[in-house]
Amino acid sequence: MAHATFTAEGQNMESFRLLSGHKIPAVGLGTWRSGSQATHAVVTALVEGGYRHIDTAWEYGDQKEVGQGIKRAMHAGLERRDLFVTSKLWCTELSPERVRPALQNTLKELQLEYLDLYLIHWPFRLREGASRPPKAGDVLDFDMEGVWREMEKLAKDNLVRNIGVCNFTVTKLNKLLGFAELIPSVCQMEMHPGWRNDTMLELCKKNQIHVTAYSPLGSQEGGRDLIHDQTVDRIAKKLNKTPGQVLVKWGIQRGTSAIPKSQNPDRIKENIKVFDWVIPEQDFQALNSIPDQKRVLDGEDLFVNKTEGPYRTVADLWDHED
Ligand code: NDP
Repeated sequence: MAHATFTAEGQNMESFRLLSGHKIPAVGLGTWRSGSQATHAVVTALVEGGYRHIDTAWEYGDQKEVGQGIKRAMHAGLERRDLFVTSKLWCTELSPERVRPALQNTLKELQLEYLDLYLIHWPFRLREGASRPPKAGDVLDFDMEGVWREMEKLAKDNLVRNIGVCNFTVTKLNKLLGFAELIPSVCQMEMHPGWRNDTMLELCKKNQIHVTAYSPLGSQEGGRDLIHDQTVDRIAKKLNKTPGQVLVKWGIQRGTSAIPKSQNPDRIKENIKVFDWVIPEQDFQALNSIPDQKRVLDGEDLFVNKTEGPYRTVADLWDHED
């Protein structure tokens, strides 16, 4: 369900209602690989761009910079309660006793009292110091239920407003739903016209789990160049929008929030101007028909060990569902 609210710029800014009752702004700023530029990007997004939603993770190594950006934006007059800040629990912390300390460390780095959303970053546990690709013994057993119970406690203690998951499959989400006392508010997945992942979107919708589309532009270096895709480019020209805006809007029109990353001030501001127009049905369907559906972020480098396992192929990671 989308709700209209207004940003500082007076631009129409939609948000989606989560199962918990909280609202998640439809567009957030991604910060992966923003590095030292993260502070500036966050300030630009919040103060000039009208963003209210920031996506980070311990693993990005930029939480301190993101936190400084949030702090500066609050000095400029924004209120914490108007912001939606997401971070993620890294794979080395996927054992029950490590969950709370990891969150506390994240809060400290971000200089925040609470998060709006805390996500399990990937459903695979890694040994601290694991290699990329992993060596034998680097990928450990993951006690999903034990970890989820600890996530639930963080929510009960109001250290996080919502909890959720990323990079889950139908198999893994159904397993989680089998024991969860608190249903995940959000499932964050790679989604763009080059990887629609309709199956997960349907399952989440059925269970009233909101989906956030990550890598909505096809991701970064080594990703899929959707910005120069013929169909995207044609529709952008026709609508007098940029390819980036068409890609973000496509995600929102499917009912997902989207978190485009940029560290360029003009592109940051451009990517959120998606609220006073629509992609006409015919063009929307053309975007839904882009061939060569393929993930960019398949997890191979992080979790696959071709000879030792436990995951020997990318298909193993995704439970042979693709
Ligand atoms: P995106 O799909 O957001 O694409 C980012 C790339 O597009 C950057 O190279 C950026 O360059 C460029 N770009 C941004 N805006 C435009 C534009 N309007 N026109 C042309 N190029 C543009 O990639 P990400 O993979 O970073 O995904 C977004 C966010 O999703 C991440 O930053 C992270 O927060 C989250 N994420 C979560 C994952 C998970 O496992 N949960 C995995 C991956 C991502 P420039 O900065 O120079 O503008």
